[in-house]
Amino acid sequence: MGTGAGRAEVLVVGAGPGGLAVAAALGRRGVPTTVLERADAVGASWRRHYDRLHLHTTRRMSGLPGLPIPRDAGRWVSRDDVVRYLERYAAHHRLDVRTGVDVRRVERDGDGWALACADGTRLTAPVVVVATGYSHTPHVPAWPGLETWTGTLLHARDYRNARPYRGRDVLVVGVGNTGAEIAVDLVEGGADRVRLAFRTAPHILRRTTAGWPAQATGVVVRRLPVAVVDRMARVVARAEGLDLSAHGLPRPEVGLATRARAGAIPVQDVGLVAAVRAGRVEPVATVAAFERDAVVLADGERITPEVVVAATGYRQGLEDLVGHLPVLDGRGLPVVHGGRTATGAPGLYFTGYTNPLSGMLRELALDAVRIARAVARSRRRVP
Ligand SMILES: Cc1cc2nc3c(=O)[nH]c(=O)nc-3n(C[C@H](O)[C@H](O)[C@H](O)COP(=O)(O)OP(=O)(O)OC[C@H]3O[C@@H](n4cnc5c(N)ncnc54)[C@H](O)[C@@H]3O)c2cc1C
Repeated sequence: MGTGAGRAEVLVVGAGPGGLAVAAALGRRGVPTTVLERADAVGASWRRHYDRLHLHTTRRMSGLPGLPIPRDAGRWVSRDDVVRYLERYAAHHRLDVRTGVDVRRVERDGDGWALACADGTRLTAPVVVVATGYSHTPHVPAWPGLETWTGTLLHARDYRNARPYRGRDVLVVGVGNTGAEIAVDLVEGGADRVRLAFRTAPHILRRTTAGWPAQATGVVVRRLPVAVVDRMARVVARAEGLDLSAHGLPRPEVGLATRARAGAIPVQDVGLVAAVRAGRVEPVATVAAFERDAVVLADGERITPEVVVAATGYRQGLEDLVGHLPVLDGRGLPVVHGGRTATGAPGLYFTGYTNPLSGMLRELALDAVRIARAVARSRRRVP
């Protein structure tokens, strides 16, 4: 029985796609569920993303359980359509979402769990699902000298569009999908000069080849040995002709699947290859340090951009929430996901902390069903 959350048997922390999908899957099994969200609406992460963002995964393979993304959203769904879909999803499944609830800590409470919230309330339930997002806390490396730099620094999370950077000299740091797309956006939006700093050269794929989406390949190869996928990816990369080594972005040394397993999914080309070949995005070495009016690169070059966009990723920020429980690994990621729970933490589930080649939204949908099945099964065991 939850305090302040009705009769919820399950409390879900986070009303992004992951939390909403779990709540819907539980609702379909008749399990009273409440979703707690610290922002003032569902899909808070998606509302903040940059304007030109479209899903890199296909509409058909990105829908959540019980309601597909509508066809009129097109094959590559826009950020705004993702937000609209999440709103419709919550309404369609009549989800009980409590906004403005910031959960600070998950604690053991008898056989169940208690959630300590920022406003001092304590909510209890037999089962808790943590769905606070892989991209939770923007991460900026502790670059030496950063505090003395006189230019403008922003994390990619705060980038909306190129308008404020027209005519300016911008350095984007990090070549994941976000850094690559922001660099292209800046070029197309009229930035004077765009450099892209990379530490590890990325794997770059076409979003589709002869109509076949890269994500579908990710699904097909999911269960193959990593070494086999690495070899296949090398052959595909050669065939796709996306080699930028003559333009300053070398071929990656570590295989695609090996890197994906470590959390670095490949970059899907939405304009980077053409922009680099045209010399409009200039690859440079990664950032080593900042000085008052310069950025020092790892190869010793000193450059003087006016703006640095740090597309340097996120941390999951789970330590404060659950770090005192036996549920995180050395990287701060949950040791379980989907329908499994960690030894010593029965009834505590996690979703959204894996990033497979097959697509995270697809994974969230699968894990939602697995969690609902596991919870329904454990309910039947309780007299
Ligand atoms: C730029 C970008 C593009 C992406 N594109 C794709 C794509 O094309 N295809 C794909 O499959 N995946 C994509 N992903 C990955 C993933 O699908 C999304 O990040 C997705 O939003 C993850 O859903 P989630 O519910 O796990 O997390 P989020 O969407 O981040 O939702 C977490 C929610 O929890 C809330 N919250 C956090 N902490 C608390 C707390 N303590 N108390 C209460 N509420 C809290 C947040 O406000 C948020 O609403 C993308 C990610 C990013 C960053």
